[in-house]
Amino acid sequence: MPIVKDLSSYKNVWVFAEQRQGKIMPVSIELLGEGRKLATETGSELCAILLGYNTEDMAKELIAYGADKVYVADNALLENFTTDAYTKVISDAIYEVKPEIVLMGATHIGRDLAPRVAARVDTGLTADCTQLEIDPEDKKILQTRPAFGGNIMATIVCQGHRPQMSTVRPGVMSKAEMDESRKGEVIALDIKLAKEDVRTEVVEIVKEAKELVSLTDADVIVAGGKGLGKAEGFELLKQLADKMGGVVGASRATVDEGWIDHSHQVGQTGTTVKPTIYIACGISGAIQHIAGMQSSDIIIAINKNASAPIFDVADYGIVGDLYEVVPKLMEALDKGEDLVNALKTA
Ligand SMILES: Cc1cc2nc3c(=O)[nH]c(=O)nc-3n(C[C@H](O)[C@H](O)[C@H](O)COP(=O)(O)OP(=O)(O)OC[C@H]3O[C@@H](n4cnc5c(N)ncnc54)[C@H](O)[C@@H]3O)c2cc1C
Repeated sequence: MPIVKDLSSYKNVWVFAEQRQGKIMPVSIELLGEGRKLATETGSELCAILLGYNTEDMAKELIAYGADKVYVADNALLENFTTDAYTKVISDAIYEVKPEIVLMGATHIGRDLAPRVAARVDTGLTADCTQLEIDPEDKKILQTRPAFGGNIMATIVCQGHRPQMSTVRPGVMSKAEMDESRKGEVIALDIKLAKEDVRTEVVEIVKEAKELVSLTDADVIVAGGKGLGKAEGFELLKQLADKMGGVVGASRATVDEGWIDHSHQVGQTGTTVKPTIYIACGISGAIQHIAGMQSSDIIIAINKNASAPIFDVADYGIVGDLYEVVPKLMEALDKGEDLVNALKTA
């Protein structure tokens, strides 16, 4: 497809509704939240595109989360994600309906799917965006993502091709609010898909047996860094996290040391989080770590070194040895003190 000459024939914001085993993934709800803003600013409709099998309830859910229209491809061949089938159906739908903006989550599925679709429909794709805005002048989407190891933020514009496509990092955008009274339209896509189009076969889906850490959903994260000095240090942090109803996070340095599993890693190459409270213990505050936690409501830093960069983003800071500070903090919480008083005591 050549450069699109008539950009005005492309309309509306599309969110790829990623489902796994019949469940809409949280990132898609975040994209509906963000997509609503973009749709309002471009004066267009917010649409979801949903591929799967027995999709009726999911389509209703997407409307409740704000989709004006849900384009549905319901077919046994689409029950589980395969690159071939999903790329074909979504590319066909883009040719047919001509959306102006297409957003996908930067999950394993989204990162596999989006480049295939972008190449097929011959348009621009910005991967792993952390910020999306509409240029007030020409209404194009400004797609911002960290580049060069997070040292610069690049803002990218797709000039002459449509749709403008982005994958968006999970956990960065705010989730859309659910409202079951919302009304929307479900539109069945005319799917041209045969068994021969799909070269992969999903034999089995195995869920990880290890404990799943839900960093993105956690209200409180107690994170540890190299300053713990040893793997056992995380046991102390787990005690504090349990007391506060939270989970344990980690810097990459500790994951590289093999002290904790990568699923706990916060940062640019880990998970992006925004809990109510983030407690950074023995974490220096490298840009790649900050990139993943700076939107937390309250950041508390405990570090031996008063000039550690983590204190630049912290709301509360304690200069001291975490092995002295954390037990004191727990003691104060046990006595029923609130967090701010507990911090003062510690
Ligand atoms: C491309 C790229 C991607 C990356 N992605 C990530 C990522 O996703 N997440 C991430 O975290 N990093 C990432 N990094 C690595 C990052 O640059 C840092 O190396 C890392 O975050 C440092 O981890 P740290 O703060 O635990 O360790 P350090 O930088 O070694 O800091 C340890 C801190 O602990 C303090 N300390 C020591 N002992 C104690 C004590 N007893 N009590 C209190 N404080 C103490 C020290 O003063 C120091 O500030 C990435 C790097 C690159 C190049």
